[in-house]
Amino acid sequence: MTQDVETEISCPVCAASNNHALSVLPKDYEYRVEIADDFGIRVCDGCCTEFIWPRPSLDELRRMYPDNYYAYGTEMGGFWQAIYNWWCRSEAKRLLSLSTKRPLHLFDIGAGDCRRFKAMGSGNQFKFSGVEMNQDMAQAGCDEGFDISPGTFEEFDLTGRVGTVDILTINHVIEHVTDPADTMRKAYELVADDGIFTGRTPKVASTGHRYFGGYWSGYHFPRHLTLFSRESLELLLLKSGFREVEIIEELNLFPALSLQNFLVGKLKIPLVLEGGHSRLWTLLVFVTAPLSFFDYFFRRSDCMIFVAKK
Ligand SMILES: [Zn+2]
Repeated sequence: MTQDVETEISCPVCAASNNHALSVLPKDYEYRVEIADDFGIRVCDGCCTEFIWPRPSLDELRRMYPDNYYAYGTEMGGFWQAIYNWWCRSEAKRLLSLSTKRPLHLFDIGAGDCRRFKAMGSGNQFKFSGVEMNQDMAQAGCDEGFDISPGTFEEFDLTGRVGTVDILTINHVIEHVTDPADTMRKAYELVADDGIFTGRTPKVASTGHRYFGGYWSGYHFPRHLTLFSRESLELLLLKSGFREVEIIEELNLFPALSLQNFLVGKLKIPLVLEGGHSRLWTLLVFVTAPLSFFDYFFRRSDCMIFVAKK
């Protein structure tokens, strides 16, 4: 790549053109999609955002997700289902505490098969809807009676929907979209006045990002197209019109996946992966749990939660 071309690369968050290549490029340790070889990662010198370059087309984007991608409807075991159900009920309480409106119109970007809606267990207090890129999952959500539009949020038609959503959620999706600034602008239009936009995303400058390097699971290479710092996420939300931005730490399982990447990529242990996880997954979670808690309490978590008001 020539210097002339490099100067044209601009940060998807702050639009600055000063950036450099990430020194150690991650690999796709989880799914090994061939298209990963076509992409690199740039680091913005201005806001510390790390981003995939070149930005993929929609066709390339779809080729990054194999059929066995973990979000696509795989059933969890009893233990993990119980943890998931508990998490969903906690999330329902958190969302209900953010607004006094009932029923609360919740719209989820990346709704999957709506298992989260079902597990939230407060159906009479919510009106659920959303978008889902995977056609089969979107149909599964519709079959369950939810208003799910197939396609990406970028493709979603806002006609008749502007200002109709009380709480807009985007959990581990904003890092997957090709133009996060455009997504945020559209989110702003969809949310009602005084409505809430909240979501989760990985965070650079975390312990895992620093010490696992190219094995850090936050890269989820090449599917995580934009990796934010606390500051760059807040900047983008404010630029999009949102106010009262709050960013807090999220307790998460990223260290387990980072360790799995390290075992597979660095130590070359031939773990058999299904849906991105090895059979050692539960063991890895328990081994890395102290690190997860340590990071959480010292504000060095791999993930953050944002809450912003329109
Ligand atoms: Zn930037």
